[in-house]
Amino acid sequence: MTDSTKREQEIDALVSEFRLPETVYVTQPSLPSLDAYGDLLKGIWERKWLTNGGVLHAELESELANYLDIEHLSLFCNGAIALLVALQALRITSGEVITTPFTFPATPHVLHWNRVTPVFADIDPKTFNLDPAKIERHIGSDTKAILAVHVYGTPCDVDAIQAIADRHGLHVIYDAAHAFGVKYKGRALADFGDISMLSFHATKLFTTIEGGALVLHNEAQRKRVNSLKNFGIADEETVIGPGINGKMNEFQAAFGLLQLKDVDNEIERRRQIAGLYRELLSGIPGVKLLIPNAHTRENFAYFPIAIDSDRFGMSRDALYLALKKFNIHTRKYFYPLCSQYPCYAALPSSRSANLPVAEKAAREILCIPIYGSLDLNVARHIANVIRKCQELSVS
Ligand SMILES: *Cc1c(COP(=O)(O)O)cnc(C)c1O
Repeated sequence: MTDSTKREQEIDALVSEFRLPETVYVTQPSLPSLDAYGDLLKGIWERKWLTNGGVLHAELESELANYLDIEHLSLFCNGAIALLVALQALRITSGEVITTPFTFPATPHVLHWNRVTPVFADIDPKTFNLDPAKIERHIGSDTKAILAVHVYGTPCDVDAIQAIADRHGLHVIYDAAHAFGVKYKGRALADFGDISMLSFHATKLFTTIEGGALVLHNEAQRKRVNSLKNFGIADEETVIGPGINGKMNEFQAAFGLLQLKDVDNEIERRRQIAGLYRELLSGIPGVKLLIPNAHTRENFAYFPIAIDSDRFGMSRDALYLALKKFNIHTRKYFYPLCSQYPCYAALPSSRSANLPVAEKAAREILCIPIYGSLDLNVARHIANVIRKCQELSVS
């Protein structure tokens, strides 16, 4: 019998004992009460105002700005369109932008849709964010901006990135899709850079089903963004430029208003789960956890673990498949790297030699289930199963 068949038999024996009765996904939205949503829908029915800046839209915009402690915010139908419009607002529609390959496809795709070439720079092995020390070598005469991502809600080195941008006269844009509610040195993480994008997709910590926002820094920028997301319309008889439809509707805004009331509880419940995972996973050989940043109020949006296959005795991919048998669905955020997609693989910056840290992260990281309604006993069970998988390799 080969080692791998023996391993599979051992896993199957464990599965019969430890399989969860119901599938646990990597995330699950916490839904507001249907009655409360129904009450808000009644108001929409009475007003017959479904989209284009309704009262709930205005209310959510101001409540969110208040909650996040930022001054200028513009709501969107989703995060990807928001980021697309951010580049338009800064007039970044040609040349190159330096970005990370370790992200969701939306990040490089919005560059492509703006006729901008993504230039991938490597990441920091501790934070998995763009490594400031790897940025400057990629700056050339066509470079327009740095588009960084606060991966898993961990702050980028915002001071170092801003210093590089200032030295070279570049814009800084943050994909803050994971960073809702995160504070860095007492300030909203989404408030750094020229513009930051938040995503309110159903899989995110705070959701409006589909949705997103741009965090802006002055009223002129906000006016420009508001017209760009509404076809470039400034008033009934003026179209100032080629805009698009990026508006959030009243149904999304209603959902968001109810979500916002519960978001602090959601973060608190996630904090408990993350604490339990830390306690139970930190001693397992070959399992590495993110090191919390001392200046950060975290949001616990994700719980990534890195699997060192030599020490763990099983590769990340083997663990991913094994956990599925236990009804534990994890996600390989982010595999493959964006630089490995066919549309970007031929770029000079996509070659392996340029991205060794990102390629290692893409091979090793697994995001395990975390969401407010995840039972602590189920979280304990998940950590236990991961430990048992490691122990198989030493038996
Ligand atoms: C979710 C996500 C997006 C896209 O947001 P949508 O609201 O789904 O369009 C962009 N970037 C990152 C890093 C994301 O995780």
